[in-house]
Amino acid sequence: MSQTPLLPGSTGVNGPVTLGVMGGGQLGRMFVQAAQAMGYFTAVLDPNPQSPAGLISHHHIATAYDDPTGWQALCAVADAITTEFENVPSQALMALAEQRSVAPSGACVAVAQDRVQEKNHFNACAGVSGVRPAPFAAIETGEQLAAVPDALLPGILKTSRMGYDGKGQARVNTREALAQAWQRLGQVPCVLEQRLALRSELSVIVARGADGHTVAFPVQKNTHRDGILALTEVHDGAVNPELAQRAQASTRALAQHLGYVGVLCVEYFVVDDGTGRDTLVVNEMAPRPHNSGHYTQNACSYSQFEAQVRALVGLPLPEPEQHSPATMINLLGDLWWPQGDARAAPTTPPWDQVLALPGTHLHLYGKLSARPGRKMGHLNITGTSVAQVRQTTAHALAILGLPSLETLAA
Ligand code: ATP
Ligand code: MG
Repeated sequence: MSQTPLLPGSTGVNGPVTLGVMGGGQLGRMFVQAAQAMGYFTAVLDPNPQSPAGLISHHHIATAYDDPTGWQALCAVADAITTEFENVPSQALMALAEQRSVAPSGACVAVAQDRVQEKNHFNACAGVSGVRPAPFAAIETGEQLAAVPDALLPGILKTSRMGYDGKGQARVNTREALAQAWQRLGQVPCVLEQRLALRSELSVIVARGADGHTVAFPVQKNTHRDGILALTEVHDGAVNPELAQRAQASTRALAQHLGYVGVLCVEYFVVDDGTGRDTLVVNEMAPRPHNSGHYTQNACSYSQFEAQVRALVGLPLPEPEQHSPATMINLLGDLWWPQGDARAAPTTPPWDQVLALPGTHLHLYGKLSARPGRKMGHLNITGTSVAQVRQTTAHALAILGLPSLETLAA
């Protein structure tokens, strides 16, 4: 990483200083928006010619992620390079790092790409982080499948690589179901995790500079529906403050232990420690901004995407301040079919009604077609009090035909 910051508007390798990102999805798009707001030029590498980030970037290189001609084209314009998703080949990041500043590093991304490596990292850090993953076993062979301890059932079988939004997972209660599920997943390397009784789910975003300075954003409380994040709440009363502090401290420790540079999100389960008290179990980490951190765009002194820019270019990372209680509602493609029949023609959701509510901030990702389950955008909600934010959230959920706060919490 460069010692002197890459200042926006200064001259870079090929004209104005330009920031590159591997991946052109919504996270890449919001990185591009944050970078451009600060005056940087941007370059996106994504094979999709209509990727959400590629559509709004100064440069779009539409090659495969593992194509060296694409890496060369990216290095020809970009002064520093980041990633927006963990499944970009870590070799690509390592190759780019031979020519340009890259954050996070390919080595860090490689850990987050593989559930077994990730859990081994969590266990290796347990002494400093104070958290462990759920009990698990790696399954790569029939022998390992047969040797799985009964204590891991009922469990969740997850592919070790390439899973997201609950894809590549199966809930299994018996050894027979486990064997069938592994078969269905194509007998690829998997982990079997004990299924825990979750009281709630949290996540923490940290940003760490090349100098090791690390800041943590306020802790998110997350509610999922069908394995996909539905609602994030960040306000007084959402998370026990002592638990939040522990989650932040452990996330900082996990980042530090990896020598991580950039934005990192760690997801946690809150479970009963056996005596009725809450305790944390670490679930997984994302080497990039995270869906649960979108509230920072409208509720914090700077967003997780600006933090990604700052960490990448070596700009200061002051402690982020939350200036408003906030919630975030995910907007999935299902909203385009309010009658629930995805064979019908899609209708645009009533954004005008939602935006009539004070404190609503609509973020749509510019995806050209809706599909059930596809992340199309999110709605951030801010206000002067927790009660007001919750009330606006309840109204927005009702307008959109989504389950109420009470149903989501149940
Ligand atoms: P994403 O990419 O959306 O974060 P993912 O596909 O990587 O998701 P996980 O985070 O591993 O999947 O799991 C998705 C959800 O499934 C979790 O947020 C949690 O609600 C539930 N879940 C996962 N593992 C367990 C477990 N061991 N016990 C109980 N519930 C679990
Ligand atoms: Mg997850």
